[in-house]
Parts: sequence; structure tokens; C-alpha cells
Amino acid sequence: MRYHRANPTIYYIIGAVAAGIFVLNSIVALSNKISVALKNMKSVSDSSLVTSSDDSTESEEEEDESWKLILVNSWNPLPDGYEKKLEFVKLRGDIWVDEQIYPELQQMMDDCRAAGFRPIVCSGYRSTSKQKELFDQEVKKYMRNGYSEEGATVEAQKLQARPGYSEHHLGMAVDILPESNQYPTQDQENSDEIKWLMANCYKYGFILRYPSDKVDITGIHYEPWHYRYVGKKAAQYITEHKICLEEYLKEKGIPQNTATSSN
Ligand SMILES: [Zn+2]
Repeated sequence: MRYHRANPTIYYIIGAVAAGIFVLNSIVALSNKISVALKNMKSVSDSSLVTSSDDSTESEEEEDESWKLILVNSWNPLPDGYEKKLEFVKLRGDIWVDEQIYPELQQMMDDCRAAGFRPIVCSGYRSTSKQKELFDQEVKKYMRNGYSEEGATVEAQKLQARPGYSEHHLGMAVDILPESNQYPTQDQENSDEIKWLMANCYKYGFILRYPSDKVDITGIHYEPWHYRYVGKKAAQYITEHKICLEEYLKEKGIPQNTATSSN
């Protein structure tokens, strides 16, 4: 009798072990399935990331702004044929600017006046022949003071660009001064008009072209009165980063003196 009672216990044990092994196997199989599923999910999300970043189309908003960024300085002459394609707007007297910059220039002047100041554009476009006249005058002045022609030319270049190398040839540079004091001196930086222009010109696409701390890069002495149109995008960047046009063109990898291609 006792023997018979032992048999079912063994069956229970065997049954329990078998059931245990089955459950364990099931757990292992299930966890394998889960890990495969997780892997698939990860690769799906990875590939969805890749496709979403492919969607951006940056180039669409890039309008051709190369005309606003033509560099003319002591090392970069006015591109050949540039002056022939200029269309002018007359401001007053003999002062003209490229018609393309006129609306924003006018707005800047209007807003400066609305702020209570009296700015006046004293110089705009200058032809290469006009610049030759100004440059020769400067050379003669030095020669009268005992300089050789060569020495006088070197000195004159510090104050007056050689013909073909003045930014005023572009029709996109203007000298602005207070109506009450039109002398281009460095202490004009203290006048209300110049202070306003320095703080606000970038909003209209203009930059202070020859800042005091960039003389070795621009090649021109500090000129608080000289403003150059470069467009709003470049003006904002140049102002925010406290750089000059030469540095901007280099940083952005914009090839310099390539304007001849658009003639
Ligand atoms: Zn100027």
C-alpha cells in the first residue's frame, strides 16, 4: 500500500519539472522574440531619422546676392565694365547712387530724421575719372610739401583711394554726415547722426565699412561717415559678429572680385 502511494508523488515531481522546463523555454523564446522586435524598432526609427533629415531644402531661399557683396579695396579693383551697367538715382546736386540701394537708403535717412536728427548724404557714386582728379590733387598737395612723386603717391593713398580702387565707384557706398557739420573727421562719431547710423544702419542693409579696429584688414583709416550697402542678411551678420566685409567674405567662402562674370 505504501509503495502505491509513492508513485503519484514521483509523477507530480516529474510533471512539475517538465512544466518548469517548458515555462523556462517559453520565457527564453519570448525574450528572444522581444529583443529581435526591439532591434527592428530601433532600425526603423534610425531610418526614419535619416529620411527626415533628407527633406530640408536650404538652397531654395538663396537668392543671388552677389552684386551686394562686390569687394573693392586697395587690392581689389573695380571689375571691368562695372560702371557701364549701373543705373542711377539722383539724390541731390551731383550726388548719385545705384538705384538698387535707393529704397533702403531713403528709408534709413527718413527714419534717422524721424528720430530727430539731420543727416545728409555728402558723397555717393564716384566715377574713376572723378577719383583720378581727387587722387591727383592729393598727390600734388604732398609734392608741394617736398615729397617726391613716389613718396607723395604713397602718402596720398592713405587718404584717397587710387582711381579704380575706391568703393564709391560701386554706387553702393555713401558718406553721411550731420547737415550742420559736414567735415569728415573721426570725432564725427560723437555726433547724434553718426551715433544713430552706427546703431541702426544694419537694419537697412548698410554697414560701417571702415571701423577703427579693422584698419589693417580694410586698408582704410577709421571713417565713421562711410556706409556701404551689403544687404540686410550680410549687414546683420557683420554687425553681430563685429567683423568687416573682407572677413565676412572670407568666412563665408565667397570668392572675391568675381563680379566680372555678371557683366
Ligand atoms: Zn566714403
